[in-house]
Amino acid sequence: MKQLIAKHLEEIRSQLPTGVTLVVVSKNQPAEVVLEAYQAGQRVFGENKAQELTTKAPLLPSDIEWHFIGHLQTNKVKAIIPWVSVIHSIDSLKLFKEVAATAQRADKRIRILLQFHIARETTKYGLSLAEAEEMLMDQQILNNPYVQIAGVMGMATFTDDHELVTEEFMLLKEIFRKLRQQFFPNQPTFSEISMGMSDDYPLALAQGSTMIRIGSAIFSSQ
Ligand SMILES: *Cc1c(COP(=O)(O)O)cnc(C)c1O
Repeated sequence: MKQLIAKHLEEIRSQLPTGVTLVVVSKNQPAEVVLEAYQAGQRVFGENKAQELTTKAPLLPSDIEWHFIGHLQTNKVKAIIPWVSVIHSIDSLKLFKEVAATAQRADKRIRILLQFHIARETTKYGLSLAEAEEMLMDQQILNNPYVQIAGVMGMATFTDDHELVTEEFMLLKEIFRKLRQQFFPNQPTFSEISMGMSDDYPLALAQGSTMIRIGSAIFSSQ
């Protein structure tokens, strides 16, 4: 298993353009298995459930950079703030405000990504461009001292249709460009496009992804 994780990591890293971050999604993996990826040099990990993150993170080295990538309920924000550096899944004004208030109390600065609904599926969470624009009109949101808006995130439809997936990734990139132009001109801190998972990351990289979130391709037994 150990050599296999190292091999998968190596295979994926070798395909990454410079500047692209690999977030290894460690959900459903026990701490011992996550440690194998750590020992193979990986430092950035993603979890999608608050409970799992807060049980696993204390068992692992403290120089791991934890990203929260799943749907986040406001009543779970307090538990995860001490552990995370980036939250990929800000999908409402209410959640943004809760993260900001909690980060302020913890005197911690958190990087966040705005999650957009780009898939055809109705089950995926996320903002529309209009909702995000309305949020960002508010200076208290745009220039919040505890929450740095670092970019956008999205999940494509789960399908073999490469054209559809590519269109959805292009849409996210277009949203990123519009927001950057409108709200973050000359701000290099607004720079991330988190898109691409095990089954679609090559398509995401081709459309300019800067963060890919990969789980099964790293931990699979093949
Ligand atoms: C599980 C998950 C991933 C990784 O999915 P794989 O197909 O295992 O690579 C990426 N992003 C989110 C939000 C996830 O929940």
